Formats: sequence, C-alpha cells, structure tokens
Amino acid sequence: MQFYKAYKENTLICTLCQHYCKIKEGKTGICGVNKNVGEKIECLVYGYPSALNIDPIEKKPLYHFLPGSKILSLGTVGCNFHCNFCQNWSLSQERKIDKSRYISPEQMVNLALENGCPSIAYTYNEPTIFYPYARDIALEGQKKGLKNVYVSNGYESTEMIEDMEGIIDGINIDLKSFDSSYYKSLGGSLEKVLENIRHFAKKDIWMEITTLIVPTKNDSDEELHKIASFIAELSLDIPWHISAFHPDYKELELPRTSVETLKRAYEIGKSYGLRYVYIGNANINTPTLCPSCGEVLIERDHFSNTLNHLKGDKCVCGEKIAGVFNA
Ligand code: SF4
Repeated sequence: MQFYKAYKENTLICTLCQHYCKIKEGKTGICGVNKNVGEKIECLVYGYPSALNIDPIEKKPLYHFLPGSKILSLGTVGCNFHCNFCQNWSLSQERKIDKSRYISPEQMVNLALENGCPSIAYTYNEPTIFYPYARDIALEGQKKGLKNVYVSNGYESTEMIEDMEGIIDGINIDLKSFDSSYYKSLGGSLEKVLENIRHFAKKDIWMEITTLIVPTKNDSDEELHKIASFIAELSLDIPWHISAFHPDYKELELPRTSVETLKRAYEIGKSYGLRYVYIGNANINTPTLCPSCGEVLIERDHFSNTLNHLKGDKCVCGEKIAGVFNA
C-alpha cells in the first residue's frame, strides 16, 4: 500500500495525514519523519520504536475493549501536531531517531505473544505518521489472532481511514476542543478532526473519545456542551473520557484540572444521554454501569486491578453493553 502520490517534478504529496504535505526531494514533512527520498516517501521511523511497554489497556484509555487485558504498546518519535501541553513531548517533539535497535513487524508480534498480550497499541506519539510500520505489524498480528488499536489525534487522511477498516480494531481519538482557533494553535483543524470522527463512526472500528480538560483553554460550559452534544449525535454508546490536565512541556503555568471541573464535565456528558462517561488521570473512580439497570459491570482501580462482571457482552439484566469484549 502506497501513501504518497506525485505532485510535480521533484515533489511528492504524503497522503498519510490531513496535512497532505507537499514534500520536495530530500525534505521531510511537518511530522519530521516522512521523507521524500526520490521516487517515494520513506517513513524514517519504520522499525525504530522509541517507546515500547506492556500496559493495561485501560491506560490507553480504552475501557470497552478487552477490559483487564495487557497490551503491547509502541510509539516512535515525531508528531503532526505541536501541542503545548503534550504529555509525551519528549517523543512527539523529538526528531532524532534512535536507530540502535530495529524491531521488525514479526519480532513485534512475537513480543506481544511472548508477553501474553492479546492486542497491540500504536500510541504515545501520533501513529498516523508511522502507519506504514503500524500497518505491517497489525497485518502480521492478525495472522496470529492479535487485535490492534490506535490512540490518535484524529488527523488521519481519508485514504488511511478507508485502509484501516479490517486492520485496526479499536481507536481512541482525542477531541481536544471545539474551538477552531484553539486547534489551529496546536497545528490542526477542528473541522477535519470532526469530519474524521464522523467517518470513523461509520466504520467497523470500535471508537472511544478523550478530552483533556485544560483549565481556561477548553473548560467552559459552552465548549463542554458542544463536545458532549457532538458525541451524543453520533452515538450514545461512544465512551467519553474526561481527562485531567497536569502541567507539562510548555504549559507549566496552568493549574491541574480541579475535581469540580471534572465532575461538571461528567454531568454535562450525562445530560446528553451519553451512557459511558469516565473521569481519568484523577483520583476518581468511574466504573462502567449498566445503562439499563445501573448494575456495576466493570470496576477499575488505577489500572492495576480491573474486575469485569459482564457475562460476555451483557449485564445480568440482559442489556448488551457496547464494545469489544471477546479476544
Ligand atoms: S504524515 Fe502528515 S505531517 Fe507527516 S509528512 Fe505525511 S502528511 Fe505531512
């Protein structure tokens, strides 16, 4: 699969993400890791993960996807956004590729299997920029029965979303704000992210949405109402993760998100009928409750201990819970 196309002499268009960078020979695009090497665009981080861990899947966060399981998680350097508050900035804003260890797709899949992980996550930095690598791992993993998930800023190209169906099983997308100028300051476009989320909602890919609530930036009632309303219009079954901000990278002056703000956002989400609203990154437990009878179905204790009381994908009352519950 080729993710570039000809533009004019010595210039190719990268079709991995919505930037559709026009890249001259010898240059890289905005992400810094996809380079026009002459007749093609090469993904320079292919085979070179800069972060590799085994995480609880709840940490992604994905709460309705194989709850309680471990997931092999990898990321590289580079990103197509430049968020001031990035909590993985040492990876995302780094451009120097550590080539000291090459891990082939086959080796990555073996690592997942050896460590008892039923799935692999492309995460930490933006996986869209290393999709050629992620895709090959995912296809290799599929052969061994592994599932694949993506943790993304939602800036995939239209071509990539079409390609992902049947390869990627689940995705968590950051919906960072509902303000166009805010998105612009991060290096993206709100309209394109919304369009992509609508696009994913029509695909056979399980989707959860996360909003990092940054004090004074995106925590007004008006904005939270807009986000919750947008998700509710797509589906009341999409889990919405409200995540607490802590000062990081260039955003060191702002305070942590208060508990009051997190609870306010939670209530706003519930007021639109969202069945699954969760608070993350804070010392607050929000278990999965049956939307029909209120029974506690999945309990989580800071990712270390997840108790799943579901019977397959159902509550004891017979209500079906949306998500992917079978490996
Ligand atoms: S992945 Fe996106 S940012 Fe990077 S070169 Fe391609 S179009 Fe540009």
